[in-house]
Amino acid sequence: MILIWHMAIDLGIARNRLAERKAEIEDMSRLSEEARSTVMLDQQAVGRLSRMDSMQQQAMAEAQERQRQRDLTRIEMAERRIKDGDYGYCIECDCEIPDGRLAIDPMAEKCVNCAS
Ligand SMILES: [Zn+2]
Repeated sequence: MILIWHMAIDLGIARNRLAERKAEIEDMSRLSEEARSTVMLDQQAVGRLSRMDSMQQQAMAEAQERQRQRDLTRIEMAERRIKDGDYGYCIECDCEIPDGRLAIDPMAEKCVNCAS
């Protein structure tokens, strides 16, 4: 049986990048959870933060958490594209996404032209 490798993208590297990104996001989620509970404890203890500050901080933390959840979804989608053999190809024009772009954003599903 002859295997024809027409893909320039190293899927092993892609999988590693996605796994690393996922671990980072999960770490950040956990740390932010800890930071949020610490802020709450501080506030109860000394009342240093005004209510406004703490509300703003909480809103920011929640926005960041939502972004992390979106990124986790994008990672799952990228993993599915790897399985389907679509990974590394633009979903709009089907061109190859350069590795430099995938190194920065391993979840990229469009080339620079189509993304902008
Ligand atoms: Zn494209």
